[in-house]
Amino acid sequence: MVARIPRRTALLRTAFLLCLVFPEHGLVQAQGPDTARYNPVIRALLSRGMRDLQAENLLRSLVAAAPHRLSGSPGAAKAVLWGAAALVDQGCEHVRQETVMVPHWVRGSTESAVVVGRRPYPLAVCALGGSVGTPPAGITAGVVEVHSFDELRALGPAAKGKIVFFNRPMDPAKVNTFEAYGGAVDQRGRGAVEASRHGGVAALVRSVTTKLDRVPHTGAMGYQDTIPKIPAAAVSTLDADTLSAMLKRTPHLRVTLRMGCRILPDVPSANVMGEIVGSEKPNDVIVVSGHLDCWDEGQGAVDDGAGCAQAIEALRLLQAIGVHPKKTIRAVLFMNEENGDRGGKGYAVDARRLQEHHLGAIESDMGGFAPRGFSVDADSLATLRSYRWRPLFAQLQADEWSTGYSGTDITPLVRTGVPGFGLIVEGQSYFDYHHSANDVLSAVHPRELELGAIAEALLAYLLSEDE
Ligand SMILES: [Zn+2]
Repeated sequence: MVARIPRRTALLRTAFLLCLVFPEHGLVQAQGPDTARYNPVIRALLSRGMRDLQAENLLRSLVAAAPHRLSGSPGAAKAVLWGAAALVDQGCEHVRQETVMVPHWVRGSTESAVVVGRRPYPLAVCALGGSVGTPPAGITAGVVEVHSFDELRALGPAAKGKIVFFNRPMDPAKVNTFEAYGGAVDQRGRGAVEASRHGGVAALVRSVTTKLDRVPHTGAMGYQDTIPKIPAAAVSTLDADTLSAMLKRTPHLRVTLRMGCRILPDVPSANVMGEIVGSEKPNDVIVVSGHLDCWDEGQGAVDDGAGCAQAIEALRLLQAIGVHPKKTIRAVLFMNEENGDRGGKGYAVDARRLQEHHLGAIESDMGGFAPRGFSVDADSLATLRSYRWRPLFAQLQADEWSTGYSGTDITPLVRTGVPGFGLIVEGQSYFDYHHSANDVLSAVHPRELELGAIAEALLAYLLSEDE
């Protein structure tokens, strides 16, 4: 996932202007939702969902069947089979796979960084996703520490032949951790390019996390064709602090970095989907989604097994409470969100979409924590129409809606004009787990996970009943 910047002010201004120009829209807002009609549905979803807590069982089953699901890996292939079987088990119709080609990067078994010396100090590192490896003997070089690309530029020739160490932490004072992530992740994404541009031989990047520990956090990085590709690794936050302190005492220390990762040719994989067919307009579709792939360091329970379990559970719940949506509600388990977004892009342009009309796309990719609302990515009118449902979500404590980015996988659909809805959650701990060995099943609370599934089921149902 990437950073989400609320556009609340802009929305309010637009709402005000719309009310002036089209007073009927103000009327729509003033009327609010039909609570008498929808309250029984909300009560039924809560009652059934919170008793069964089935999202947790689905997540447990996924991480047991396919704990490592990086695109192109055997684990990702197992996850595709798991997704199809789980959708069939939950009574979904038209369960199928849509093939997409995905990048295939492998970590390899060699991965280490050591501060050279009489008493070598090993740093906890992991290769960044997409990085080239080092020669088998590794790269041994001096280290320069910087906190920004500007600082690197100002160093001039001092970075030449060095390992460039990017050590800007996520800003702890930002309450919105996704904004703090957005303020630091450039070092991971572009660090290798910028280091290489200035003559660096490798990039070492402080893990983009809020947690101080010895667990490195991986994530996607990229190269530019015109700039030599150099290896890039994440270093744990505690070791980043240690290395920084060592550099102050011993500016000429040297580090040996060894990585056996490599990039292989693309391979076929698939998005997996199943649906409740609409009773009146089966070709009108509402998507509820998460992504099946995850980084290889943990189990991807938070990112984004949770979103997949919730999508399937949302459809199960709607069937379990006996409602019959007028339009088709489709669970989509996307492939390759983490390092290519091929699933999201492939879904949006697949020829089968030409026969369909998408009314909305919902994604949960901020972890399975307690839901707080939705981030609506749509034109002003669609945004205002959806905002009138907000009071219904107060019963789930999920009525803190905002506008902006909704989810990586559904963004290609949103760009074609489909309203996007990203599930917003309580986000203080998300980046403790993100892309690391910390991301395991125990990080997800069954009740919080289920509430997210219920919020998604309710929104999908509202979209299906909207005239
Ligand atoms: Zn994700």
